[in-house]
Amino acid sequence: MPSNAISVAPTRRRVRSIRDRLRAAYGRPIPAPHGAPVDELVLTVLSQNTNDRNRDVAYARLRERFSSWPAVRDAGEDAVEEAIRPGGISRVKARRIQQILRAVGDDDLSWLADAPLADGREYLMSLPGVGRKTAACVLLFSYGRPDVPVDTHVFRVGTRLDLFRAGASLDEAHDEMLRLVDPDDAFEAHVALIRHGRRTCVARVPRCADCPLRRMCPEGRVRLAAGGPTRPRAARP
Ligand code: SF4
Repeated sequence: MPSNAISVAPTRRRVRSIRDRLRAAYGRPIPAPHGAPVDELVLTVLSQNTNDRNRDVAYARLRERFSSWPAVRDAGEDAVEEAIRPGGISRVKARRIQQILRAVGDDDLSWLADAPLADGREYLMSLPGVGRKTAACVLLFSYGRPDVPVDTHVFRVGTRLDLFRAGASLDEAHDEMLRLVDPDDAFEAHVALIRHGRRTCVARVPRCADCPLRRMCPEGRVRLAAGGPTRPRAARP
């Protein structure tokens, strides 16, 4: 590790400090749970490997063409695939959506609102193709349950801030976020880190000189000390 790299053990207190700085920079996101977990499951499948706009177009077309989720479930795969084609890899997504809807059956999943968090997560992850991030999205966005989805932005920013162990898997990163984020801050942590990853801590060349976290970021310190943002930092062991 370069001599000027300072590794900082992740704590709840430190994560609260990150929250406060990001809140000052980007505002405080307000959660608005929609109470529709099956909708969220389908939306999350449609979001894979595409941008938000194409995902939303595909979702809107699906809802326009079918009157209900059972109607999507029982339709021919070709009809579902054609409806969601603007979202990309539509054949794979159509099959996955129908598999999930068949597994869910007539359950509206409203019990996820009050079930123990681990039980809800375990059930969701038993559905075809549903992993930790999708389960967290369903729990958080449907009912405001305190789970923190770790997408590519959250993972990158969290890694640069030393919130995750070097070489941590996505599942381990999810566990760390559960440990580090106050339950009431789950939504804000997720949204704020995505905003920061899109606007400042971007993938290729993070804008460390303009970053509100630069004084508490091990990677930012090294990049700035090197006179430019492009030099990578040695990982925390
Ligand atoms: S200082 Fe740089 S690497 Fe650290 S969070 Fe900010 S933009 Fe990302």
